Amino acid sequence: MKSNKQRRAEIKAHRLERAARAVALLQRQQVDAGLLRADGMVVADTALLAAHNNTYGPLPTFYVDKAFTCRDCGAQEVWTAKQQKWWYEVALGSIHGTAVRCRACRLGTPRTRTTSTTND
Ligand SMILES: [Zn+2]
Repeated sequence: MKSNKQRRAEIKAHRLERAARAVALLQRQQVDAGLLRADGMVVADTALLAAHNNTYGPLPTFYVDKAFTCRDCGAQEVWTAKQQKWWYEVALGSIHGTAVRCRACRLGTPRTRTTSTTND
């Protein structure tokens, strides 16, 4: 049997958690609305993105740096928001494509590049 004190502490913890979630949700909505920009965030040019033949889902409204592991050498790399903007809006690369190889592997020696797909 829990004491009233324990119960009050649990309720308080619950409320704090809920408040944190509400703040996170609000921030996300503000980001979606273009009101808030996190560090390194680059706003997408939706007019340029409209060139994509997109049947999958909503087009991005902003880009943020994405960490990925190189498919070939296993190095930890970051696909920057700027690079994503270039890929989707200038190069008009596949809207579903993401970076899979580090710069060294993209430029470097052709090892076993039999499964070469996007962003090469
Ligand atoms: Zn690599």
